[in-house]
Amino acid sequence: MQKIIVTGGAGFIGSHLCDSLLENNYKVVCLDNLLTGSKKNIEHLLDNPNFEFVDGDVIQQSTVNSQHFSGVSYIFHLASPASPVDYQSYPEETLMVNSLGTINILELAKKERAKVLIASTSEVYGDPLEHPQKETYWGNSNSFGPRSCYDESKRFAESATYVYLQKYNLDARVVRIFNTYGPRMQVNDGRVISNFINQAIKNEPITIYGDGTQTRSFCFVSDLVEGLIKAMFTEGTTGEVFNLGNPEEYSMNDLAKKIKEMTDSASDIVNKELPPDDPKQRRPDISKAERYLNWKPTVKVNEGLQKTIDYYKNLSI
Ligand code: UDP
Repeated sequence: MQKIIVTGGAGFIGSHLCDSLLENNYKVVCLDNLLTGSKKNIEHLLDNPNFEFVDGDVIQQSTVNSQHFSGVSYIFHLASPASPVDYQSYPEETLMVNSLGTINILELAKKERAKVLIASTSEVYGDPLEHPQKETYWGNSNSFGPRSCYDESKRFAESATYVYLQKYNLDARVVRIFNTYGPRMQVNDGRVISNFINQAIKNEPITIYGDGTQTRSFCFVSDLVEGLIKAMFTEGTTGEVFNLGNPEEYSMNDLAKKIKEMTDSASDIVNKELPPDDPKQRRPDISKAERYLNWKPTVKVNEGLQKTIDYYKNLSI
């Protein structure tokens, strides 16, 4: 049975990835320091003999070099705070996990001759001047601002991957993850979908930042996980960068209305100040993933939102 490491495996996306890999008969070692991940997300896996949880930090070389990780064939490097509220609460940890943490993972992949997938982000495009964003777009990001701990460290992670590809012939690929949602998103991670649904369920005001005309496109987590798996296992992906996300684009005004309707909520919709450097629009061009990976999202937004609403309703019972 082949061994796979998932860093950040107790996080929102990471835990769904662990589920899926175990279903596909791999041995999964999950490394997570539980800073923004949660043991609850993997509780159901702890008795599975093919699953191992290591409570540790990828920035510690001694942890990454420990025997838990020897003999690994594949590494998914997802560890990092990822919501704007989380990475701005932990800016130093964010810098470190994406820089030093990524180098440690690339070194491990080199030593073990393992295939590696580095999770990057749509944030590398900053407040994009090209719309929708293709992988070839270089971005418009602010290196000296509240989002830069995340944007710039992810750009560094991509750059480090490029160097290891060129210099050491590593079998690596980069995936730029666009806004993703679904069960196991933390209630208080500050993301728009978790905020809107939890506000709506409690009949509290739904908070739109700015005038609500800014747009995002939202991918349901099961679609995203399938994309990650295809990016790792499909032939011909070495050295490639892929956007993964759902190209259906919504304004925050439309999203708020939709969630209010779906939850039958009495909440008011209120406007709050727009945070600095908040991108005005974001939508992936996924034609490269369609071409190389034969992948595109299949879960409709109403279906994905309903599953997420049900998850949060169950939590609050
Ligand atoms: N947003 C909002 N109300 C909220 C939380 C977020 O209007 O309660 C907006 C935020 O300003 C941004 C968009 O929703 O324009 C997406 O924010 P999120 O934090 O989910 O992720 P981002 O795409 O900015 O990384």
